[in-house]
Amino acid sequence: MTTKHIAVVPGDGIGKEVIAAGMEVLEAVSEISSFGMDAEYVDIGSERYLRTGELLTDDDISLLKGKDAIYFGAIGDPRVSPGILEQGILLRMRAVFDQYINLRPVTSWFPLVPLKREVPFDIHFLRENTEDFYMGANGTFGPNSGGDSAHVHVSRELYDIDIDLVAKASNGDDFAFEIGLLSRTAVTRFADYCCRYALDRGDGKVTLVDKANVITRNYGMQREIFGEKAAEYGLDLEFMFVDAMAMAMIVRPETFGTVAVPNLFGDILTDLGAQLQGGLGMGGSGNINPEGVSMFEPIHGSAPDIAGRGLANPIAAVLAAQMLLENQGFPDEGRMLHDAVRHVLDAGMTTPDLGGSLTTSQVGKAIADFVLGQK
Ligand code: ATP
Repeated sequence: MTTKHIAVVPGDGIGKEVIAAGMEVLEAVSEISSFGMDAEYVDIGSERYLRTGELLTDDDISLLKGKDAIYFGAIGDPRVSPGILEQGILLRMRAVFDQYINLRPVTSWFPLVPLKREVPFDIHFLRENTEDFYMGANGTFGPNSGGDSAHVHVSRELYDIDIDLVAKASNGDDFAFEIGLLSRTAVTRFADYCCRYALDRGDGKVTLVDKANVITRNYGMQREIFGEKAAEYGLDLEFMFVDAMAMAMIVRPETFGTVAVPNLFGDILTDLGAQLQGGLGMGGSGNINPEGVSMFEPIHGSAPDIAGRGLANPIAAVLAAQMLLENQGFPDEGRMLHDAVRHVLDAGMTTPDLGGSLTTSQVGKAIADFVLGQK
């Protein structure tokens, strides 16, 4: 028995319900396998924020730092202005723990998949989680912007950009800009992880998505680095422009395995992927730091419209638990959860979003029972 120390953060809304179901499943796994679990629940989320004003405290961070992994539900509350919880908790957590990979598997779960071509597919998206156009490197300038037309200070103290030339060309009009930045260091560690992931999965190739024909500098450098890494690991490297990729995901999803995608395009393609695999209730995700503490969560949010009524589909949370197990060195136990999900889908034991009539906890119990039956 190997014991893993897991921080459990149910969070808000349906996060609480789906994590309760996911924990029942993980407990079932620990009963029948060598996976031992020492779980500690951590109260982070909107209730505490509204009570105390605290988002992610230093104490939270030091507690989480001591764990092997974090199992996370969802954050969000209609009583709190948009952005506060997301930035103060989720984005801060990703930054503090430097979870630079966002892993999003997209699997065909027939008959849920709304595609005409019924071919099985299993795409694993690896999204770079720290750079690109989401770094907050931005500014505005011009007569009505409140900015300084001669010199713009880019947020996060990354760069001081002299934009005299641009200002002249603007004819005194307002400008706004958002810069996409890639560093050699971050792209190299990302490429390295993607290649190792492809090898572990038995994929002979990595697909790199970009728009290198228009955004030439960033994605040109990224191609060069991925080329070196793929050669080092003996893998084929396939380039796809993001627009072509969006089409290919619909018409030939079965041709992709490990797909590396920069931050902005990854945000969009993984949501397309979520719908390909049957909706928000069917997607798990991992925010991974291969050398540190990683966090596993369903891709959906707190869904206040259905919270507290047992309507939430817990499968996304169970698939997040599967990823946690795989990441922690329990691939067979992870596979068991995949099979258990397959089983409840085949048996029609589902929540209303998938056409069934079971509650969140009933689906969780059905999955846990299947696991216990594997003893
Ligand atoms: P948040 O602000 O926390 O992101 P949200 O309501 O904006 O919450 P989601 O929770 O991601 O966004 O979901 C959007 C809608 O999809 C929900 O309102 C809900 O109706 C549906 N939904 C999401 N997750 C599930 C689930 N696990 N089971 C069933 N329906 C779901």
